[in-house]
Amino acid sequence: MRMSKLFVQTLREFPSDAEVISHKYLVKAGYIRKLTSGVYSYLPLMWRVLKKVENIVREEMDRAGAQELLMPFVQPKELWQESGRWDVYGRELMRLKDRHDREMCLGPTHEEIITSVARDGLKSYKQLPVNLYQIQSKFRDEVRPRFGLLRGREFIMKDAYSFSTSQEELDKEYENMAQAYRTIFNRCGLPTKMVQSDSGAIGGSVSHEFMVITDTDAGENDVFYCDDCNYSANSNHAVSTLPEAPTDGREYNLIETKIVDTPDTRTIEELCEFLKVPSSLICKCLVYIADSEPALALIRGDKQVEETKLMNAVGANEIRIATAEEIEELMKKNNYSARAGFIGPKGINGVRVIADNTIKELKNFVVGINENDKHLVGANLSDIRYDEFADIRLAERNEYCPQCGKPLKVTRGIEVGNIFQLGTKYSEPMNAIYLDSDGKAKPYIMGCYGIGISRTAAAAVEAHHDEYGIKWPLAIAPYHVVVVPVSTKDEAQMNTAEYIYNRLNAKSIEVVLDDRNERPGVKFKDADLIGFPFRITVGKTLQDGKVELVTRENGCKEELSPDEAIERVYKIIISNTEQ
Ligand code: ATP
Ligand code: MG
Repeated sequence: MRMSKLFVQTLREFPSDAEVISHKYLVKAGYIRKLTSGVYSYLPLMWRVLKKVENIVREEMDRAGAQELLMPFVQPKELWQESGRWDVYGRELMRLKDRHDREMCLGPTHEEIITSVARDGLKSYKQLPVNLYQIQSKFRDEVRPRFGLLRGREFIMKDAYSFSTSQEELDKEYENMAQAYRTIFNRCGLPTKMVQSDSGAIGGSVSHEFMVITDTDAGENDVFYCDDCNYSANSNHAVSTLPEAPTDGREYNLIETKIVDTPDTRTIEELCEFLKVPSSLICKCLVYIADSEPALALIRGDKQVEETKLMNAVGANEIRIATAEEIEELMKKNNYSARAGFIGPKGINGVRVIADNTIKELKNFVVGINENDKHLVGANLSDIRYDEFADIRLAERNEYCPQCGKPLKVTRGIEVGNIFQLGTKYSEPMNAIYLDSDGKAKPYIMGCYGIGISRTAAAAVEAHHDEYGIKWPLAIAPYHVVVVPVSTKDEAQMNTAEYIYNRLNAKSIEVVLDDRNERPGVKFKDADLIGFPFRITVGKTLQDGKVELVTRENGCKEELSPDEAIERVYKIIISNTEQ
């Protein structure tokens, strides 16, 4: 490819709406163009990268024994009703109607479709286990599309679904996929951490995420991990044991159970300051809205609620903290007028109350009683109301590993892949059954396995860049080499550049010849920004029969003869791409 013909427009500035580096560089270097919020065109350079990621994924999925198919992107409501998800999926599901007023949706994921495909084709245990996958665009009407390709509304995903006859068979396929995922991300030049996670809207029990660890804002997940053992988990799933903290109010003179005045103590800090007690002795009571119904969460005053855990404990599909108006309304209904800060679980009726496990340990503590400027002190479990105990607590740095007791560490991660054990969550309601060897009809035991193709490419930019631009890992770079003649007017330079270009092309190395009549500085800048792994510069040293080979990854420069340079990059590229 000649640069003069390559469809790419590099920009002088970063786009104004870009917050993270991959978004900035992918737009500036001419890889993607925004059409509308969270929807991008993949321009030729980007499409080359995406196809490379796809091919690595395809090769490893095929090697792991999965079979590729392609399912429709538009899906009928009826299938989603069969699984029960039409009413619970929420607003991320893009719903539409056809000309006959039939309701449809754009596929955010394909459990329903694949389950219906399977039940038509997989009727006997003899056909199982099977793993089917596709690579396709998905649409999710994300609340906050941002970060370019990292969180789009339309994005490319590989989704695979396995069908087994037993839990053991599923466990085996799950491990098979986990192994394939490690290989895929390593081949993409992206080391990942496999972490335990919540299974969210897709459902099921066991699930893991593959995280690219990053210290930038692009990491939307907090990952807790332990260096001493192999524990690692997404914050929505991480559990921890706590360092010692006062949990008996007796030490602070909260002996008698009584109501005391606590004027204007709206925050935990103000309340602690006023009563001269540590926050670990407060029973914090928070009002949430779970699927439009209020719910209360109780947790020790020095700890935070993890909303996904709370959502699971309540059994809701969506959860958020209540607004001041919603709290007021709830109080009114129960004939109170308390403001946030004075709310307590007792006396609020018809509302689920989930108490965090930290509450179990408390004695002689402080709790709100739905009266402004008052609290109950010296309170015990018998003085409050709760429906159940659960772990709804957000783990924190320096709490202890649940496996080995050493201090937990936390880092940020970008989720590039996800594996779930679904069990019979879809096969049972959708009556997707096979005949087992004993002649009995049984639902498939399913697993599902996703990889964000476009997110993986963007995560590679997050992991590989410098202040000048992208440093693509060789395996997914759009082109391997750029050949830059310093002066296109210099015949000798142009001839050598053409020679190198033709020789590399003949060896099937993906190469761009920068034949533009531009200043060398401009060409070098673009080469660094676009992120070609190798640059061969043909300039003044040609007089001594030398060209310059620059490796983008480490900036290493070598003077070599044109043939040596060709041989050098050829060898590196071949050894890297042979699998
Ligand atoms: P997230 O928690 O980041 O919203 P998810 O858990 O909902 O993602 P899955 O349903 O597990 O996502 O989808 C499988 C993979 O698809 C994810 O691991 C991720 O790589 C990718 N993915 C999901 N949502 C998006 C998105 N909005 N933009 C780009 N890639 C996405
Ligand atoms: Mg996920």
